[in-house]
Amino acid sequence: MKKVLKVDKKEAAGRIKKFLPILNKTYPDAKIALNFKNPLELLIATILSAQCTDVRVNIVTKALFQKYKSIKDWIKTDISEIETDIKSTGFYRNKAKNIKNACIAIDEKFGGKVPNTMEELVTLPGVGRKTANCVLGDAFGIPGITCDTHVIRLSRRLGLSDNSDPVKLEFDLAEIVSNKDWTLFSHLIITHGRNVCNARKPKCQDCEIAKYCPSANNPELW
Ligand code: SF4
Repeated sequence: MKKVLKVDKKEAAGRIKKFLPILNKTYPDAKIALNFKNPLELLIATILSAQCTDVRVNIVTKALFQKYKSIKDWIKTDISEIETDIKSTGFYRNKAKNIKNACIAIDEKFGGKVPNTMEELVTLPGVGRKTANCVLGDAFGIPGITCDTHVIRLSRRLGLSDNSDPVKLEFDLAEIVSNKDWTLFSHLIITHGRNVCNARKPKCQDCEIAKYCPSANNPELW
């Protein structure tokens, strides 16, 4: 069974302060991979990205956002037509239902504008903390930690949290990452996870932050 690192939050916070600037230098252009022009588009793209690659979502949204330009466009369109338009992102029935119902809720409860608080965002159908943090951080510039599969994996390897539940892990990280860095931290860790600290075989020999990582070159901890 995979070993789990014991976490010392104070010590972990100190290491984050050291390795975050290195990642920032390594990936100066790290940003969200989904294309969007406003909070509504990011909300829709994030809902579509569940169990789907960002590349595929961007292909689909290119045409989608030409056709659906506002909340009203989604609300007035028949659900079966939305399903057809988003089909190639997978789980399209559920996603279509969530998108349409989220738009109805935004219209009825929030005056037609995507809300900009965690409390309000998570009341929308299909929106959990991960999606809400993504929208807060990237569409509104309000710090948010997006706990996707990369952030979960790397946080555990780096000894920042011993939780695998995304919400618990998010709260652990919120204690040890400076609030102003939450969104940046998410982008840098996701980019590092994609490029170097891969799920199956992390490239520790090429890792710029290996000296701050307790799992470096230790397969028992991957
Ligand atoms: S040293 Fe290895 S396990 Fe640690 S962050 Fe780098 S690639 Fe991942």
